[in-house]
Amino acid sequence: MLKTMKIVTEPEILHQKSKLLSREEVLSDEMQQFFGELMDFSKSGKYGVGLSAIQVNEPVAVTVVTSKPTPNRPELEVFDKICVNLKIEEGFGEKVPMWEGCCSIVGEDGLPIYAEIPRYEKVRVSYLDEKGEPHDEIFEGFIGEVMQHEADHIEGVIITDLVDRSQFVSCDEFHKIMQERK
Ligand SMILES: [Zn+2]
Repeated sequence: MLKTMKIVTEPEILHQKSKLLSREEVLSDEMQQFFGELMDFSKSGKYGVGLSAIQVNEPVAVTVVTSKPTPNRPELEVFDKICVNLKIEEGFGEKVPMWEGCCSIVGEDGLPIYAEIPRYEKVRVSYLDEKGEPHDEIFEGFIGEVMQHEADHIEGVIITDLVDRSQFVSCDEFHKIMQERK
């Protein structure tokens, strides 16, 4: 796929469902190269802690989780993972509002906007790793939230579909909210 990656923000692109991949497709040279490129691209972003291929206009079910300290969440730890065909198999308990932004949904300042999105605090997910091996795992807290956000991208769902645009705050306002929480 070798080309310069750029985050897309057009809802008509983001609303597409991504294509699930077979083990053979996962193991192809082209896909192996794409995993590395998507991982490097996501890590290079200042705010992003996860990125799905549809966000760089490739409608295949590939997600990278690249959790790291960000300006708004300095407490985060480094956690990298490639998930193919990511799916939420089960949510535990009731959904609760959790603060969340998306690199593809930006305000007038060009930075992500944030809102409290209803999410499970604990989920069971299935995915294939970069070697095409299946996994069935439980994630809680922030990584569980990221998994739900990215699984939505695979289905063509974005956070402005889940919560009204009027409920969102700017990156700057979100930064202040997070500071006040301390
Ligand atoms: Zn997103």
